[in-house]
Amino acid sequence: MRTLIQNAIIITMDPQRRVLTNTDLLIEDSVIASFGKGLKEKADRVIDGTGRMVLPGFICGHTHLYGIMLRGAPMDIKPTTDFLQILDRIWWKVDSAFVNEDAYASALASCYEFVKSGTTCFADTYSGPGSVEGVLDEIAKGVTEVGIRGILAFEATERNSKEEGERGLKENVRFLKKLQKSPHDLLYGMYSLHASFTLSDELIQKTRDQADQLPAPLTIHTSEGLIDVYHNIERYDKRTVERLFDLGILGSDVVLAHCVHVNHDELELIRGSGATVAHNPMSNMNNAVGVAPIKEMYEHGISVCLGNDGFIFDAIENIRTAYLIHKVHHLDTRVTTPQQVIEMATINGAQAYGLADKLGSIEAGKQADLVMLHPNPRVTPILPGGVYGYIIYGCTAHDVEHVFVNGNQVVEDHQVTSVKQEDVEKALDRVVPALWKKLGIDV
Ligand SMILES: [Zn+2]
Repeated sequence: MRTLIQNAIIITMDPQRRVLTNTDLLIEDSVIASFGKGLKEKADRVIDGTGRMVLPGFICGHTHLYGIMLRGAPMDIKPTTDFLQILDRIWWKVDSAFVNEDAYASALASCYEFVKSGTTCFADTYSGPGSVEGVLDEIAKGVTEVGIRGILAFEATERNSKEEGERGLKENVRFLKKLQKSPHDLLYGMYSLHASFTLSDELIQKTRDQADQLPAPLTIHTSEGLIDVYHNIERYDKRTVERLFDLGILGSDVVLAHCVHVNHDELELIRGSGATVAHNPMSNMNNAVGVAPIKEMYEHGISVCLGNDGFIFDAIENIRTAYLIHKVHHLDTRVTTPQQVIEMATINGAQAYGLADKLGSIEAGKQADLVMLHPNPRVTPILPGGVYGYIIYGCTAHDVEHVFVNGNQVVEDHQVTSVKQEDVEKALDRVVPALWKKLGIDV
């Protein structure tokens, strides 16, 4: 199947950050075949791109698909005053109630929202002591039904017991080995560790050893709240990143989620290791944990990708927040640029997970993961020099017209084509009332 996108403005995110006009883009099966003019006779199908922008599909560098299950849940909890209370009173209560069917339904629903708003790839860490073994297969089922690309892991933690941490690591190894044996175009595995305050040195090191034996990216929540910093200073006389560094865990295959509370020395350690930071501004604001020092990370030469932490599955909302938060935090309009935050949500995400040879930019030979934005109405001229700003200042998820993942069109004319909305709702209706009941909520 060959699909030609004609006359669109192509925001390549390639190394030169070229923005192409008067160029057509030919998708052949799963890859971007070529650019240029006169390609029409080669195409089986032509899509009019006039007045549209085409970008590489957005990549969410850190998420929890199950987060969607709590939307609008009227939980009766005491007001939380710090991050540990948020985990203890909300998220650990919820994930302890999960069964494998919840993981499938939440994956289906969140992946549906992801593609509808232009995300084509994400890195997920699932959590839940009652649904460990086999749960990544359930999530993978939802991912492949929607037709999005997913990097999946179980979040190993020893918050209840050492044995729980072992089970989490084992599930990741099982899933990675399964994919090694039968690869799937849309599925990847990784290692995920919760956070240093719920992990022993042994499990952190064991996970690192495992990632060296059976290579895959490794992610860990890092100084999201001050609890991480205080815990490590009290127990180990080290700050969080210092402890991780001393344990030998850091490397270019590591994605550190959040890094809200990291100092200059820790930034130097991150830079030296080649690890990436996954920035989650909307979640950080919601949890009131602080503002990650993104300006300083850039000054240190650290690569930053963008995540949603399971909060809002709309890429452009997250991109816009990443753009705005640092400007007001520093009272300086120069701190972030539209291009910088769109890089975080595309090519930087691909680099973070070792997928930049396939994803993250529009280049011949790369996988055809694309999002077409149709600002409607178009208010001002869309010029190559103004495309990033046009998206930040003028686009919403409603402008996502078409989305391709691996060459397959999963959104056409603003509608998800791979799964029906009513089937997603049915899957949720089957499990959410029982889950909420366990949390004391009558539906
Ligand atoms: Zn997270």
